[in-house]
Amino acid sequence: SGGKRKKMRKNGAANGGGNAQAQAAAKTRLLQEQRAQLPIAQGRDAIVRAVAANDVTIVLGETGSGKTTQIPQYLLEAGTLAGLLAITQPRRVAATSLAARVSQEQGRPLGTLVGYAVRFDEKLSDETRVKYLTDGMLMREMMGDPMLERYGVVIVDEAHERTLRTDLVLASLKRILKERNAGQAPGKGKERARNPLKVVVMSATLDAEKFSRFFDDAPVLYVKGRQHPVSVYHTATSQTDYVDAALRTFYQIHVDYPVGDVLIFLPGQEDIESLELSIRTYAKQLPANALGVLVCPLYASLPNAKQSRVFAPTPAHTRKCILATNIAETSITIPGVKYVIDTGKQKEKRHLTRMTGSGFDTLLTTDITKSSAMQRAGRAGREGPGNCFRLYTEDAFDAMALSSEPEVRRSSLTSALLQLKCTGQDLESIDFMDNPEVEAVGSALRTLWLLDAIDVKRQLTAFGRSMASFPLEPQYAAILLASVDNKCVADVISILSLLSSSSPLFPDSSAQRDDAAEARLKFRHPSGDHLTMLNVFRAYDELSASEGKGARRDWCRQNYVNERALREAGDIRTQLRGVCERTQLDWAVSCGDADGPVLKSLTRGLLQHAAFLQPDGSYKQTLGPSVIKIHPSSFLTGKPCPAIIYNELVRLSSAAAVTSRAECIHRCTQHISTPAASRLCLRHS
Ligand code: ADP
Ligand code: MG
Repeated sequence: SGGKRKKMRKNGAANGGGNAQAQAAAKTRLLQEQRAQLPIAQGRDAIVRAVAANDVTIVLGETGSGKTTQIPQYLLEAGTLAGLLAITQPRRVAATSLAARVSQEQGRPLGTLVGYAVRFDEKLSDETRVKYLTDGMLMREMMGDPMLERYGVVIVDEAHERTLRTDLVLASLKRILKERNAGQAPGKGKERARNPLKVVVMSATLDAEKFSRFFDDAPVLYVKGRQHPVSVYHTATSQTDYVDAALRTFYQIHVDYPVGDVLIFLPGQEDIESLELSIRTYAKQLPANALGVLVCPLYASLPNAKQSRVFAPTPAHTRKCILATNIAETSITIPGVKYVIDTGKQKEKRHLTRMTGSGFDTLLTTDITKSSAMQRAGRAGREGPGNCFRLYTEDAFDAMALSSEPEVRRSSLTSALLQLKCTGQDLESIDFMDNPEVEAVGSALRTLWLLDAIDVKRQLTAFGRSMASFPLEPQYAAILLASVDNKCVADVISILSLLSSSSPLFPDSSAQRDDAAEARLKFRHPSGDHLTMLNVFRAYDELSASEGKGARRDWCRQNYVNERALREAGDIRTQLRGVCERTQLDWAVSCGDADGPVLKSLTRGLLQHAAFLQPDGSYKQTLGPSVIKIHPSSFLTGKPCPAIIYNELVRLSSAAAVTSRAECIHRCTQHISTPAASRLCLRHS
């Protein structure tokens, strides 16, 4: 067979295979040259030495200098790496695209030497030495491996963002360092720990001192970036519609300014999609000899294949326009950008404890901070002088907060607390960089207790441990586990997948509201929105089994349902089924047309989101102060029911809060018999 292989290689060379090989080699050479030119390359030895000499090293460097892609490779190439190297990212799209880039630079297929792990997706093998993963995934790994024994190095990237999960990772690493790297304590032998852990904390903004203090005055290395001057423009008056303002500014640049790509910062996916549509529409009306426009969206849940378009070289006679969330602020650097348009807005996680009683986080569109505004402007000056157009006034900039509050101070701690409990830690005992509010800790404890994840002594229950094995919010995990007892796992997994999808199943299509409402009416389930969603998913599944892609797309259009939500939910469902298989749960059990089992399961997780009917037709929260109404878009209309559960509360401009995705539970209230539910009744009797 050796001879055969040789022959094939020869043949390959004759008909172009060798060409491809030569091309690949040239590509690798080019990438190596690019690597050598990055600002960080000069600091290579210093970095390798610092990591070898210290338990913790802080690296501060400007965005685009090469921290995320190079430092793992330097440590790998130095040949001193013991075990795996993990590098955490706050966002999944950063973890997957950076792993792909670094694989390329190593000249190896993704998932071999370099791989990634994010929620609902991973590419790894036994060969993997460098692993890009979300900080949430690393927390998850600690549940099975509390000391992270498999890892020789853990790099915490984008630490300046101070997400809740990053803070949890930092706090956990501090504990692990203490145990794994315990030095020469008297009487404990003179040896240095056999399997020490090295930690690198990387940040893009000037807060390195705080990280250094947190890790017992760890040394700080500074990496200088290449920053060219950026001219910053503000608007004279404040803008009411930032999407429209961004559209006008883009075309002003397109017509008046020399070639160079444009990066537009928007808060979220919906705005990105609407701006994409209008830019494309106007692009069609440009004169034939004008510069073409290539629009590339970039947001957290964008499928991998579409992300890579952002990095592809801009075709000749074209201007690339990237529409991004704050993911492009520091995580991802796109070459070729000369112009930045900054709407001044972002989406931020908020936990509305006071309004909802407790429960889920809400994403709110808020003003960015000064530090974000500077980062955004900096993106225009990577390769030469650039321009940044802010769609807000100079006064508005002056009024911005310096930097944002760490997420641990403003988001729900329920899921974090459950994960900590599973690794034998606790919110009170863990050493955070900034401590959470007492009220938030209380709320998380109450939620876990009501869900039966912890007992009265605050000890983790077996149910709580099972809950944590699912990559879901604790409330949803409780629903899933309840569906096992209620024999409706298949149905509940479909609903939870849709709820976890980042796109809404029923987008607001106000233009054709009447048609849309009528088209959707055939899916309507009298018990409410969750079961209506299930009806849609079932119909789509049936279609998927028999029809092709085109037919499915038409069907979705005709029925005014969002196909992307269904496709994304399909992927999540596959993952959840996988987890079920690993924990030996049969995910195929369905309750068919019966709705009782599904409602019972939903109630198990949403019991903090329950409300009882009042004489005046409104609903009063069982565990909160608010009087609420059912949202007009809900399918649960008509006859009022004695009790409802709901997924989220939105506050409308009027004082009344309104539910969405409400579910009438009048038919199953008398069956609720979970321990937590009976506690609930006790508290309110
Ligand atoms: P840092 O982490 O310091 O912000 P990175 O290591 O992420 O910097 O990026 C270094 C450089 O590598 C960037 O300036 C960019 O030019 C290049 N780069 C990173 N990812 C990609 C990619 N997927 N495709 C092309 N170039 C990339
Ligand atoms: Mg980086």
